[in-house]
Amino acid sequence: MYKKGDKPGRGIYICKKCGLKLELENNFDVLTACSKCKFEVYNKLSISSVSHGMAFHK
Ligand SMILES: [Zn+2]
Repeated sequence: MYKKGDKPGRGIYICKKCGLKLELENNFDVLTACSKCKFEVYNKLSISSVSHGMAFHK
């Protein structure tokens, strides 16, 4: 679990509330509040869920 202000590294993060994807392209990028719902907690999208398609989608 990651939250606003963290620098979790390059990857794709999924808003825990609305599921919006936020992609960080650099290891020094900082997570910001969700642009859609303003929630501030994310899950990281793992490579294995990418290969399974929209596994995170509700
Ligand atoms: Zn959101």
